[in-house]
Amino acid sequence: MAHHADSIERLINRLIKLPGIGRRSAERIVAYVLDSPLEEIRGLASSIMKVKETIRFCRICNNLSETEVCKICQDIQRRKDLICIVEKPGDVAVIEKSAKYNGTYHVLLGSISPLEGKGPADLKIDNLLLRLKQNNVKEVIIATDADTEGETTALYLTKLIKPSGIKLTRIGVGIPVGSNLEYSDPATLSKAMESRQEI
Ligand SMILES: [Zn+2]
Repeated sequence: MAHHADSIERLINRLIKLPGIGRRSAERIVAYVLDSPLEEIRGLASSIMKVKETIRFCRICNNLSETEVCKICQDIQRRKDLICIVEKPGDVAVIEKSAKYNGTYHVLLGSISPLEGKGPADLKIDNLLLRLKQNNVKEVIIATDADTEGETTALYLTKLIKPSGIKLTRIGVGIPVGSNLEYSDPATLSKAMESRQEI
C-alpha cells in the first residue's frame, strides 16, 4: 500500500536495502532529501559515487585506499617490521583511532567460518607470507575478532606463522569474548594492544 509518488517509493525501496535502514528510517531520509538544498543532495550523491569509483584495496595490506598503496603503507614513519593482522578495513580505522600503534597492517578481508563455508582460501593470506619474508618482520600481532570465527582464524594464522620463528602476539585483554573489534572503544583497544600476549 504505497501512498507515495512513484519516485519516492523507488527511493524508499533502495534505501531499505542499506544496512540498519528500515522503512521508517527510509521515509525520514526521504523527508531530509526533500527539505535539503539541491546542492547538499547533489554532494551526497556524488560522495557516494566517488567512494564507489575511487576506493580500492591497497596492493600491500588490502586496506581501503584511493591509491594503489595506502597512506599507512606509504608512511616512512610506520614500522614495516611490525604487522597487525585484522579481519576488516573497519578494524584498521578503529585501531588508528587509538593512535598508539606505529606499525603496519594486514587486512584479511574475512575470517574462517566453517558454518558459512569460508576457509583459509577465502582470506587474503598469500601476500602476507610474502611480506613476512621481504620485510624482515620482527613481530606479528593477531587482532582478529574475539568471536568463534576470529579465534579460528587466529589459530590458523598461529600454525601458519609460528614455524617461521617470528614473534607472534594476540591482543585480547579488555576485549570481551565474542565481540567484534570494531565496536571496541579506543581506550580499551589501546590497552588491549599494549598488553598483548605472546603465543
Ligand atoms: Zn596498505
